Amino acid sequence: MKILVINAGSSSLKYQLFDMDKEEVLAKGLCERIGIEGSQLKHQPKDQDTVIISNPMKNHADAIRMVIDALVDPAYGVIKDMSEITAVGHRVVHGGEAFSGSVIIDAQVMKVLNACIDLAPLHNPPNIIGIEACKEAMPGVPMVGVFDTAFHQTMPPEAYLYAIPYELYEKHKIRKYGFHGTSHKYVAERAAKLLKKPIEQLKIITCHLGNGSSITAVKNGKSVDTSMGFTPLAGVAMGTRSGMIDPAIVTFLMEKENLSIKEVNDLLNKKSGVLGISGVSSDFRDIHAAADEGNKRARLALDIFAYSVKKYIGTYAAIMGGVDAIVFTAGIGENNAKMRTGILSGLEFMGIKIDEEKNAIRGKEIDISTPDASVRTLVIPTNEELMIALDTKKLVENMK
Ligand code: AMP
Repeated sequence: MKILVINAGSSSLKYQLFDMDKEEVLAKGLCERIGIEGSQLKHQPKDQDTVIISNPMKNHADAIRMVIDALVDPAYGVIKDMSEITAVGHRVVHGGEAFSGSVIIDAQVMKVLNACIDLAPLHNPPNIIGIEACKEAMPGVPMVGVFDTAFHQTMPPEAYLYAIPYELYEKHKIRKYGFHGTSHKYVAERAAKLLKKPIEQLKIITCHLGNGSSITAVKNGKSVDTSMGFTPLAGVAMGTRSGMIDPAIVTFLMEKENLSIKEVNDLLNKKSGVLGISGVSSDFRDIHAAADEGNKRARLALDIFAYSVKKYIGTYAAIMGGVDAIVFTAGIGENNAKMRTGILSGLEFMGIKIDEEKNAIRGKEIDISTPDASVRTLVIPTNEELMIALDTKKLVENMK
């Protein structure tokens, strides 16, 4: 069975075509600058050179048509024709409270997705446009929606409600939703496999640390709390996002700095986090380089990041009544050994101990704990696209 996975952004569209019999990627690629001058498609067929096709793409429908042409091209295509594709899985950022799992997209689902636009005004519209474009280009092919928020719908109300007037939750659906759910679910399931234990018997803390970062408490296979909130601004300090701050700072800043709603929003989303503290960069490689050269603010940014992740690990061990495994994933979680050491140092009292030689290994699933550690520490490269393809396969098989 072949499944196409689509991740549509406002001016970009990423895709991967999977052969699900072998769970392998046949081709992947990226359409960039959709609707802007200079649009191009980078198409990477398995075991072949990357092809760059520069063609105007007015909109996402044009982009999908170019992807289809590339997939069936006699020279660099990987399938004979589109009838080989059984279904398409779409990454959708926000499913609100409506979706606690992936779904086959029908007219009713489209209505709900449109209703969720208020909750994710930057992300859901391009996701919806991507779905519409695929439906048009591939009539009759089942489309599946896989939501970043879905995995976290199992959180109990004491975890997801904010202590503001309850009527505001009822009126505006203001609550914690959480994000990166597909990644947290994937690495938690992989962790259970690596530990050779049923996920239903495990307490796992998954740390998705990338440009955006979130930590999740996964108890018995279910998300019971997560660090991002109503929006992806909450939780740990990130590349450019502040993470958790005293909410009174927002109104204080608006008054003292004479900032508009948009300006304060930009400040907290785009100019804060490790970029704001270090003044150097949002990229951890640059910040490490500056800190190694003696830049004190760069060192402080790294310390603040490690400290905020450590706090969540302690908190989530407390709410789950213990922890069996800590999992690191995404750009920083997978690649940054120094940061993993920084986050975990001082947690030996919880039974967390890592082997620095194993910690230095990169690019594969690995248990980096010492043999005597009572909590396993795992590094697991995330694979959101495969998770989307697996969910899509499961749903279309059940349609039969
Ligand atoms: P992501 O959003 O998952 O792509 O992660 C991006 C972040 O991962 C950036 O801050 C990068 O600096 C960081 N990252 C990627 N590779 C490395 C590495 N080898 N060492 C340190 N940080 C890395």
